[in-house]
Amino acid sequence: MLSKIKLLCAGVTFAFVTLCTQVQAGSFELTKVAEGVYVHHGQHLDIDDGYQGDICNIGVVIGSEAIAVIDTGGSKHTGEQLLQAIKAISPLPIRYVINTHVHPDHTYGNAAFQHDGTHFVGHDKLANTMLLRKEQYEKLNARLLGEAGKASATVPPDTAVHDQLTLDLGDRTLQLQAQRVAHTHTDLTVLDTKTNTLFTGDLLFAQRTPVLEGDIKGLIAALEHINQSPYALIVPGHGLESKDQPTIIGNELRYLNLLLADVRSSIKKGISMEQTMDTAAASEHEKWRLFDIANRRNVNVIYPQLEWE
Ligand SMILES: [Zn+2]
Repeated sequence: MLSKIKLLCAGVTFAFVTLCTQVQAGSFELTKVAEGVYVHHGQHLDIDDGYQGDICNIGVVIGSEAIAVIDTGGSKHTGEQLLQAIKAISPLPIRYVINTHVHPDHTYGNAAFQHDGTHFVGHDKLANTMLLRKEQYEKLNARLLGEAGKASATVPPDTAVHDQLTLDLGDRTLQLQAQRVAHTHTDLTVLDTKTNTLFTGDLLFAQRTPVLEGDIKGLIAALEHINQSPYALIVPGHGLESKDQPTIIGNELRYLNLLLADVRSSIKKGISMEQTMDTAAASEHEKWRLFDIANRRNVNVIYPQLEWE
């Protein structure tokens, strides 16, 4: 496997960590986005359409003593590809695997990282939620990913974040913040304090239509709260990272606020959920990828919640 690794950078081996902007193991790429910070971009595929276990963003942060991984992809196979790509960048141990939330496209690569000394870290409610959904997600993985799905065991966190937790990687720390109910009820953000890079998990999507299963009002509040602090770089759960915080967060807030207003308006007028799926936030259609499937799903989640307002 290591022989397949290509370093797509100036080939100065003694200093390639600082010179490399892209590392590729097979077809799996890690892109350097800040000093010691790498991102793998998953493909924009829906879980119900062409899902191959590699659709979310994955972060890698390298300190002077240890490495942290932020999400691991959706299968053990993706996790193994990630592991090989990390080994091509640094020999340091992977001390932490952090999951930003429970969704299977972000968590089932954990199975590739079960080694001595690696801790799995997540929101206070993540371990229990992963276990509650274990059967459902393992069935889903087996159906969608075949053997790769069956090989991907559920690996819940051993370290819980109740509110905040700081992880030390040597000469840099990560600040983890457990969120209230937003995209899910297990959301966690990760700040690399050295480069002021914020990993939002699925609180934030870019290019691809945001989705939620939690609480749209909570998600809007979480994004507004994030917007109160300036970050040098924001890495969303899906889509490209951005230094333009007002735009990347503003785009999602515009969509969510419109969706919320349109669903509320439908409920008030007695328009059915089925009809609302076709009309809510329609002006956003051309601005996002996978809009039809994701927007309908969002209406399906929030319409019943908002009926009780
Ligand atoms: Zn998600």
